[in-house]
Amino acid sequence: MEYYSEHISRLIAELGRLPGIGTKSAQRLAFFLINQPKEQVEKLTEAVLEARNNVKYCKTCFTLTDRDECPICSSAKRDHKVIMVVENPRDLAAYEKTGQYHGVYHVLHGAISPMLGIGPADIKLKELMVRLEGDVDEVIIATNSGVEGEATAMYISRLIKPTGIRVTRIANGVPVGGDLEYIDEVTLLRALEGRREL
Ligand code: ZN
Repeated sequence: MEYYSEHISRLIAELGRLPGIGTKSAQRLAFFLINQPKEQVEKLTEAVLEARNNVKYCKTCFTLTDRDECPICSSAKRDHKVIMVVENPRDLAAYEKTGQYHGVYHVLHGAISPMLGIGPADIKLKELMVRLEGDVDEVIIATNSGVEGEATAMYISRLIKPTGIRVTRIANGVPVGGDLEYIDEVTLLRALEGRREL
């Protein structure tokens, strides 16, 4: 049934594909957008396109960046022998905001979840193992503390153990099910300092 013009229906359908956007929100956004000045909408579409076309994965840590290698991986000031494994670039940003972590990162882009059908091959785990063939002293596993994050941590630690590289897990100061990005800096630092051997 077409309540609106075909163009608006299409816009609502596309917006509705975004994560966390239901039909009602999609409608609200669509009507908001068509009531905006044309230039404002152009700015938005341009920003979306430019981000999509220019942002890529860092070839080393797989965070999002404009370059082949992100500023953290290419910095001589960072300790490249300590790798913190996080689920996504937002978690990396949370730790960067503390300004107290001087190692580098590895972004998995997800966590292992049998429920959602996400296996070890679906996240950047192979890529982590390749990195560990280099000179690495410690891997700090900072996946989220929910069921999936814990399962992923266990899986990774079992993979790494045989290599003899030290594997640690950030402390439980992080509430269960809490996404790293929503946790304040003090708690993050406490979790990092209180990390335990796996
Ligand atoms: Zn990087």
